[in-house]
Amino acid sequence: MPANNETTLARISTRGVVQGVGFRPFVYSLAVKYNLNGWVCNTSEDVRIEVEGTREMLDRFVSSLEQEAPPLARIESLSVSFGKPVGYNGFEIRPSVTRPGKYQLVSPDIATCSPCMDDVFTPGNRRWRYPFTNCTNCGPRFTIIKDIPYDRPLTTMSVFKMCPDCLREYKDPLDRRFHAQPNACPVCGPRLQLTDNRGDSADCPDIIEKTADLLREGRIVAIKGLGGFLLACNAENAEAMILLRQRKHRPSKPFAVMLKDITEVKKHCTLTSEEERLLLSPQAPIVLLPWRDGSSICREAGPGLKYLGVMLPYTPLHHLIIRETGLPLVMTSGNISEEPIAGQNGEALRRLGGIADYFLSHNRDIHSTYDDSVAMVVDKTPQLIRRARGYAPYPIHLSFAAPQLLACGAEEKNTFCLTRDNHAFVSQHIGDMENIETMEHYVRTVELYKQLFRIHPVAIAHDMHPEYLPTKYALEEAEKHNLRTIPVQHHHAHIASCLADNGEGGTVIGVAFDGTGYGTDGKIWGGEFMVADCKNFKRAGQIEYLPLPGGSAAIKKPCRTALGYMLVLLGNSTFDSRLGFLNGIGRDEIDLVSRQVETGLNTPLTSSMGRLFDAVSAMAGIRTTIDYEAQAAIEMEMQAYGAIDEKGLYPFSLTGDQSYSIILLHELVAGVADDILRGCRAATVSMRFHNTIAAMTQDACLKIKAQSGLGTVALSGGCFQNRLLLSKVMALLKQSGFKVLTHRNVPANDGGISLGQAVIAARSQILQEGN
Ligand SMILES: [Zn+2]
Ligand SMILES: [Zn+2]
Repeated sequence: MPANNETTLARISTRGVVQGVGFRPFVYSLAVKYNLNGWVCNTSEDVRIEVEGTREMLDRFVSSLEQEAPPLARIESLSVSFGKPVGYNGFEIRPSVTRPGKYQLVSPDIATCSPCMDDVFTPGNRRWRYPFTNCTNCGPRFTIIKDIPYDRPLTTMSVFKMCPDCLREYKDPLDRRFHAQPNACPVCGPRLQLTDNRGDSADCPDIIEKTADLLREGRIVAIKGLGGFLLACNAENAEAMILLRQRKHRPSKPFAVMLKDITEVKKHCTLTSEEERLLLSPQAPIVLLPWRDGSSICREAGPGLKYLGVMLPYTPLHHLIIRETGLPLVMTSGNISEEPIAGQNGEALRRLGGIADYFLSHNRDIHSTYDDSVAMVVDKTPQLIRRARGYAPYPIHLSFAAPQLLACGAEEKNTFCLTRDNHAFVSQHIGDMENIETMEHYVRTVELYKQLFRIHPVAIAHDMHPEYLPTKYALEEAEKHNLRTIPVQHHHAHIASCLADNGEGGTVIGVAFDGTGYGTDGKIWGGEFMVADCKNFKRAGQIEYLPLPGGSAAIKKPCRTALGYMLVLLGNSTFDSRLGFLNGIGRDEIDLVSRQVETGLNTPLTSSMGRLFDAVSAMAGIRTTIDYEAQAAIEMEMQAYGAIDEKGLYPFSLTGDQSYSIILLHELVAGVADDILRGCRAATVSMRFHNTIAAMTQDACLKIKAQSGLGTVALSGGCFQNRLLLSKVMALLKQSGFKVLTHRNVPANDGGISLGQAVIAARSQILQEGN
């Protein structure tokens, strides 16, 4: 052990998000502060530091490293070893080193920081009104990175040669832009370009002013941001919004709105301090906020909804445009319907030329496209609904070391997940796997993640549904590379993802409520109770099986589901034209559905909670057909908020033996029909229905607890994005003494499935035996 005043060498390795976040300048300034000599360097595995000095100074240096790291850095591990001094002179930042097979974490893209905002809005500053201003604390990262280590030549910024002024900043360890890889200025960096939808350059002296004029005139402008093009229009102009809906083939699915700042947000929405913090966070997601009645934003942004998706500007370009227009702007993904977001200039013109009147683009390429993330705050805790910009590709931390695996995810709201060590790299939201563009985007992104994190999967996990495109992809890839496949049941994956999201690994009561998932008996599950851990599950209860007349046709037309449920549960006699939705369906359709229910032809059986919401929503006349997924259930939740102090319940019963509950719906559906025939408001019916589902969940969990002794319940599945349902279920379960786990970092919807698949595969017997 060297004496305290002797010079000692410390070799330090730090891992986590430590590159592209101003970590090396931070190390440099610390070394200077503590008078230490040596060097720091990025490798494809970690940030390495060698410093020499007295032991006391070295100790202070290490503790400062941990405690004072830059805001965006996340240190996952830090190891120190001491040795004989080399005799370094001064402190330097050494060139990055590539180590074969090694990897490091990659930072997500980060919203513009306030010093950069000051640069952009200070006249006379050399970056005044420059839309690509960034620094080590903010700006693009993941979307421009082609490979690691994170250095300019391996990003899409490699084509821009820094001017002397930028280079000076880049080389000055005391500058905020020291080693900021996307560093740029009006002299040397990317430039804006405004064209019409034929690609012809729009003639104007100031592109930002011109774009603002166009938006004020009611035009639709495609704006290239960090992860792709967003379609923008004036959110106070109903005509512009209706036109955008028509052209985008998106009749009623809500649009997100970008607002200038928090003061502006408060004019349109109410918000809590947690929601404010989330909006202002470096991730800057879209946050679903209660929409004020007096808001000047057209209701067309979210027809029938009480929540508005709001985000703040997250690039200088957005800030400039929103200030110039002085308007709230609709900012929605640049795509048609469910295709992936457009990222490249030519591609955008080709795909979005029929939607946007003008294109505001630039010449910084997007290497990987990236949607805006969506979040909500429940119980003071942020929950992600769509995980992309600002979050991916930062991994979910696992409580154990996983083998290298690929989990292919679900069909809708797809993400995939790659594992290595204690990292689960859940991809950004990929989308609904229903068209060739999305599938191509999926395959490209899988390859990118494999390359960035140097992952060679030893096995592939997939959903049990044979028709899911990601399942087919999994089987093809496994065949091609001679790998094992691990099929995972959909709702088991939901519960495992909730466990992993909470860092839990024990056995729990799992409640998975969603639209559809392939069951082990070939039926469509979705209202499931199970005893599960990350390895196995045993179904412990379900909603009774009911027919889905016409299969997916019923999903688009909840009135069909309602008819099917009523035919089975109440029989023909209860058909009463006073049930509002029946007027909307022709006699022919009623006959068709009756025949389907009778014969079972093209009529799968389902235990889905999502479909039960659909059926009741249709019966109450809230939604008989839908334009976007879960619309009937979402609008029913909105209706329920109109019921005041409604505590009523519909009757229901649990049958089955001690170890298995089947929830029978006859009394519930009869109760709903009676209420409607008595002239009850939809709001009342809706609130009573929510109360009922919460009570049946509590009853079923208590019954499972009595058998199993389990005291923890994990809630997952898309239905738990219904805040009313979630809060009611949580309250009742907590009242009964349960510990309740819900989602935070990955969505409760099918966006979380890949994480669950990965965790289950990592724990699976097949794999353990195989190795
Ligand atoms: Zn900055
Ligand atoms: Zn420059």
